[in-house]
Amino acid sequence: MARCRKKGLSKEMRRLARAIVKIKAEAKKLGLFAEDRDTIACPRCGLEEDVACGGKLLVTAPANREIDTGLRFTLVKKDGDMWRCPGCELVMKCEWL
Ligand SMILES: [Zn+2]
Repeated sequence: MARCRKKGLSKEMRRLARAIVKIKAEAKKLGLFAEDRDTIACPRCGLEEDVACGGKLLVTAPANREIDTGLRFTLVKKDGDMWRCPGCELVMKCEWL
């Protein structure tokens, strides 16, 4: 994820940016979708991410889109934009917003 240059941002803006980063990290720990990227759908096996009411991230299978498989797409490389499907291991791109 790109880092903001400190120069040009007010002290208050930097404080708010740090608070947002912290809140997003806490949301991810709780299994919530931080909305910092699009959801991912695997074109090979059909696993799809979805966001439930309340913001919980789900991954569903084509056979039943109502049940969370408990599987999660994983980043291939920290700070990268390539993700690995937990079902078939396909690696695909999903850019950060
Ligand atoms: Zn897949």
